[in-house]
Amino acid sequence: MSSKYHHLIDGEWLSSPDYTANLNPADGEEVIGYSAQGDAATVDAAVSTAQRAAPMWACTTSQMRADILDKAGQLLLERASQIGHVLAREEGKTLSEATGETVRAGQVFKFFAGEALRVTGQQIASLRAGVEVGVAREPLGVVGVITPWNFPIAILAWKVAPALAYGNTVVLKPAELTPASAHNLAQILAEAGCPNGVFNLVFGPGETVGEAIVNHPDISAISFTGSQGVGQRISAACGRSQKKIQMEMGGKNPMVILDDADLDHAVDVSVNGAFFSTGQRCTASSRLIVHAGVYDAFAERMVGAIRVLRVGNPLDEMTQIRPVCSKQQLESNLSYVKLARAEHADVIGGEALDSRGFFQKPGLFLNANNSMRTSREEIFGPLASVIKVDSFEEAVCVANDTPFGLSSGICTSSLRRASHFKSQSTAGMVMVNLPTAGVDYHVPFGGRKGSSFGAREQGRMAVEFYSSVKTTYTFSG
Ligand code: NDP
Repeated sequence: MSSKYHHLIDGEWLSSPDYTANLNPADGEEVIGYSAQGDAATVDAAVSTAQRAAPMWACTTSQMRADILDKAGQLLLERASQIGHVLAREEGKTLSEATGETVRAGQVFKFFAGEALRVTGQQIASLRAGVEVGVAREPLGVVGVITPWNFPIAILAWKVAPALAYGNTVVLKPAELTPASAHNLAQILAEAGCPNGVFNLVFGPGETVGEAIVNHPDISAISFTGSQGVGQRISAACGRSQKKIQMEMGGKNPMVILDDADLDHAVDVSVNGAFFSTGQRCTASSRLIVHAGVYDAFAERMVGAIRVLRVGNPLDEMTQIRPVCSKQQLESNLSYVKLARAEHADVIGGEALDSRGFFQKPGLFLNANNSMRTSREEIFGPLASVIKVDSFEEAVCVANDTPFGLSSGICTSSLRRASHFKSQSTAGMVMVNLPTAGVDYHVPFGGRKGSSFGAREQGRMAVEFYSSVKTTYTFSG
């Protein structure tokens, strides 16, 4: 039987007149649930309750917030395989990726449970005699959280957990494609003892529910992860209403392969970075920039490596490349394969499988150059351009020649070149002999240029976004 996912407002599960089908991308027609469809009035109800709950939640003890977050983290860990199974069916991740993502969400909640106890302030000597200056952190109020489908529980965790830890209340709008994971998280928060109104969940399309959150006058801050186009629209609206904003958007992440690299390792790193998760990671290596001295050998090994990758059902343990998340995304990916041919790259693979599901073989665009649209625009699928360069210096220039700046990587055995690359890269995260995707949760995550805007996410730096600073002056006579 299919599940129904209702809104969660003021601790009540609320139905709606309309529901949208949640499809399994491995099948294309199998409905695994139905999510409620909210509108501006639903958002208004959620924001009102979050606003009413905000003073109470801000005054709870840090121990109480820590206990609730820790319990939520524990429940996520205990139910990782059950929640991961649902996540795999709605998003298409392999079971191991989906379970791993749920475990990550649990770890994030536990991390911020600890951080709730470590909120610090400062006492600073004043310029004036007898005056004390204090700097304290305070909650922002109601935070609107808008999330994408590609990490349907981990991204929610790394936004919701710090928002709650630092004393804010939340209205969450998850992506329409992945409601079940958000619903699971909401159930766990309720079970962990999150008071009514502190965490609220509204389902519905971005154009209505998302926009209503962005434009609501009683929301103090917006944390958004998604595409650059939607992000730019949101930031313009938040600029007008002076809301605090944090945005993580797309990437066109370079992986540089130098002629001194261990080639087997470079191929492993590139296959993982470009094709795992079907390339649907904002940190995916979508430009492989290869020194001419090893270009032919690297290209040959990559072609061999992608030909043996097993594309298949996410629930099959042997599967390495799972389906693309939606029909629309598959069509977009295939249009880029066509474009790569029109741009005279040598296309290997990239074709759709003859199936009801949204399956696509991994593809390489060999002999690409960095001016091609396929090398400049984010594709978000299992496709990577392979670009030849003649020197380390040219590799750095090409790597940085992109409107994005999320993650970058280099494969080299030279400490000097690795060190130079780390300092010259214009990305927010730099990997040496590691895939561009795959990060730790206790350190800052984020990019530069068109990839990110506002304070960093994750780790202790999350406090910068989810709190406001107050400076106090006291003259005690
Ligand atoms: P979208 O930008 O299409 O959607 C992201 C979220 O925004 C969804 O919940 C969506 O709702 C909502 N939304 C859509 N339109 C509006 C609007 N006008 N106002 C407010 N909210 C709106 O991205 P995708 O979900 O397709 O995710 C893929 C994108 O996310 C890629 O570009 C990827 O690079 C990026 N991403 C970035 C990450 C990072 O940390 N840098 C991490 C993961 C993904 P709905 O879809 O339900 O209509």
